[in-house]
This record gives sequence, structure tokens and C-alpha cells, in this order.
Amino acid sequence: MPKGPCKLEGCERAAVGKGYCTRHYRQWRRGGLPKGRYKTCTHEACHKPRSLGSKCEEHRGKSAAVAGEAAAS
Ligand SMILES: [Zn+2]
Ligand SMILES: [Zn+2]
Repeated sequence: MPKGPCKLEGCERAAVGKGYCTRHYRQWRRGGLPKGRYKTCTHEACHKPRSLGSKCEEHRGKSAAVAGEAAAS
């Protein structure tokens, strides 16, 4: 399997271990990251942690997102 970018949100360095780049992998090994091995959203190119089922909060379903937006606005 080819290694993608670091799975930490917002980081675009190449992953070297556990899905993290060198810098974040070192952080993860020291326990500096809140969740070391969370599963990520199955949506293409999305590396956010799963919220419900196999998707993140953003991709898990329109009904929930619409309800959230309606409540926010
Ligand atoms: Zn990183
Ligand atoms: Zn997602």
C-alpha cells in the first residue's frame, strides 16, 4: 500500500509511521497526540476521525448536518 499524507488534520507531510509524518509520529510515540490510532472517515481524501459508523461528522449524513445548520442559524 502506498503511503499517503500524514493523517493528522491539516498536516500535508508524507506519512512514515502509523499514518503520521516524522514529526507527528514522534509526537504520537511520546503520547503527545490525544488519540493515536483512531479510525478515519472512509470518504475519499478525508482524514478526519470517525464520528458515527464509517464517516466523520461532516460526511456521516445530510440529515444530521442540516439539523445542525438549522440549529446554528
Ligand atoms: Zn504530520
Ligand atoms: Zn469525512
